[in-house]
Amino acid sequence: MTTIDINSLLRENIKKLVPYSSARDEFSGEASVYLDANENSFGSPLPTAYNRYPDPLQWKLKEKISTIKGVPPQNIFVGNGSDEAIDLLFRAFCNPGVDNVIIVPPTYGMYEVSANINDINLKKVNLLDNFQLDLEGIAEAIDKNTKMIFICSPNNPTGNSIDRQDIETVLSHFEGIVVIDEAYINFSRQKSFIQELTEYSNLVVLQTLSKAWGLAALRVGMAFACQDIIDIYNKVKPPYNMSQATQELALEALNNIEQVNVWIKETVTERNKLSKELEEISIVEKVYPSDANFVLAKIKYADYLYDFLVDRGIIVRNRSKVVLCDSCLRITVGTPAENEALIKAIKEFV
Ligand code: PMP
Repeated sequence: MTTIDINSLLRENIKKLVPYSSARDEFSGEASVYLDANENSFGSPLPTAYNRYPDPLQWKLKEKISTIKGVPPQNIFVGNGSDEAIDLLFRAFCNPGVDNVIIVPPTYGMYEVSANINDINLKKVNLLDNFQLDLEGIAEAIDKNTKMIFICSPNNPTGNSIDRQDIETVLSHFEGIVVIDEAYINFSRQKSFIQELTEYSNLVVLQTLSKAWGLAALRVGMAFACQDIIDIYNKVKPPYNMSQATQELALEALNNIEQVNVWIKETVTERNKLSKELEEISIVEKVYPSDANFVLAKIKYADYLYDFLVDRGIIVRNRSKVVLCDSCLRITVGTPAENEALIKAIKEFV
């Protein structure tokens, strides 16, 4: 068990922060007349009553997530997509212009965007050629102002999972926050790190309902961490960061795990089929093994192929200018018909 004093890592102004006290924070329980929050007491123009502010801590939703994930509700933060969970970490822990965070490119772009928005220095330690962590490079990059390290596993855009032991090495040696972004964990053969929260006080695991759960438009992201970190999230988040409608719809969706499990199985089957079919095409030099719902493929004339596909109404992600992804396209696994249309179009290009 590593124990790090999380509060000592906080940004100076957050250490002194008096959080906004929302109307309902000072009273808990049921009342018959609510005249405290300047809501519309007459109702809302919708069939569902949305005139009252929602539960700021989203307890019902967290309890449901807790039963699915086996993590206590007080170790869960939910927000407006994992993107909010990422941004709030920067706001809580990193002093602008002073602190730095480490990212391991090629990786999810939002860590860099959030760092830039918050004026936080970025140290990039590229993955090795096998898309695994450069542990020596990371150890060299860490200095006294390094507050966080972001590791995405399975990694976007490469699709592979990051070696578990390497992640554990980072978790036990780095005295700052280690964020493991598991947006694609449902498609992976690897075990999630959420069962390790009691082991590492510096661990934040991010997951989302945007991928396997099929709710990208709803914007629900989750962070799992020790209670100190969740308390900090609750201090710095906007008081009502998730709408009532979102909380209700997410709760309803989480009751439908059987359907999601069927989709996960189908996605994995289609991913493996798509990888094989791509490999058989002459211009495809390599399809990287994937633990996610997309594959990264190194393809001759990738930029021309990308444009050719766009002209045919098929959009993939061109990653050919990204470090270590020279000449690569990232392709989301679609339905069988969509994958077939893609393969047919690539064959026409050849
Ligand atoms: N993490 C990773 C690795 C992602 O690829 C994405 C979305 N592409 C996200 C997080 C964002 O998730 P959300 O929709 O929950 O903001």
